[in-house]
Amino acid sequence: MNVPKLHVWRNPLPDTFAGSLPEFLAELPGPTHIQLSGRDASRCRVVVTLLHGNEPSGVSAVHALLRQGIEPAVDLHIFIVNVDAARAPPLFSHRMLPGERDLNRCFRAPFDDNPQSQLARTLLDCWQALAPEALIDIHNTSGLGPSFGVITAIDPAHEALISLFTHRVVMTDLVMGSVMDLSGRFCPVVTIECGGARSEESDRTALIGLTQYASLTTVLDLNPSDVIMDYFHHPLRLELLPGALIGYGRELPKELGVTLYPDLEQLNFNYVEPGTELGGIKGELTEVLQAKSSDDTERLLHFFYVDRGRLYARVRMKFFMVTNNPEIARTDCLLYFVPA
Ligand SMILES: [Zn+2]
Repeated sequence: MNVPKLHVWRNPLPDTFAGSLPEFLAELPGPTHIQLSGRDASRCRVVVTLLHGNEPSGVSAVHALLRQGIEPAVDLHIFIVNVDAARAPPLFSHRMLPGERDLNRCFRAPFDDNPQSQLARTLLDCWQALAPEALIDIHNTSGLGPSFGVITAIDPAHEALISLFTHRVVMTDLVMGSVMDLSGRFCPVVTIECGGARSEESDRTALIGLTQYASLTTVLDLNPSDVIMDYFHHPLRLELLPGALIGYGRELPKELGVTLYPDLEQLNFNYVEPGTELGGIKGELTEVLQAKSSDDTERLLHFFYVDRGRLYARVRMKFFMVTNNPEIARTDCLLYFVPA
């Protein structure tokens, strides 16, 4: 088994970094841990990014900060993880390499005998040993849409971390083996979804947030009058069942499966009204899709119905993380939703 080695760079000088992001990526030796000494060496913070190779906003912000030669407030440990997937051509198009597991589903025991689980274990051991005061994991969504943070606990520290980047908060108790699941194990952990990949606004969100995370003396205190957060509680995942096919378009599917309308990602964080047409279904709805709550209860028919082969919303909802990438829809989920 070929477990990717974690490379360490200590206090690299700003002018050692290539000027463009693709050149910077080409120079990384693989999964890399960059350590920057801060003004207060008694504390440290961790930032993780590029767990998914097709989500560049986080690494773009890291590259900009390194080029600026920022001196962080406390020691900063930056982990740029799935470098190999990111630079497989075309650049930033692979969530993971073909045949590999999704790294952000591997952060849980038992750590199986595969390279991604072993890398997740190496990272986890390293973070635990560092004992940081906070850990943030920066992603992009695969569809269009605004930024949001994901937390597993509502408390001032988690809110404060999210508020560095965005005012939208998704509160979840879905356990999926993601970095998110580690929250509370050794420090507050938040996931930041900066918005769609390859969007200047997403890159800006990452850069502003990361600059604050690196340079502010305190990041775990929030002055309640400073920010008004927008909460979305306990989302459900709409998932494709094994044996069913997924496509995007306006025609009805010809085989057991679902065809979603391609403009569905426009609904990210907008209200979806009852009766909104979402796509076409061939076969019984419960043979094609599932939507389980965190206690494993099947809730699909409470939220969706089919009439003459068309799929509709049954109740008022908000959607987010809507993807139009069939591979992500098939292996992860079609979208997340909360009742409105
Ligand atoms: Zn991601």
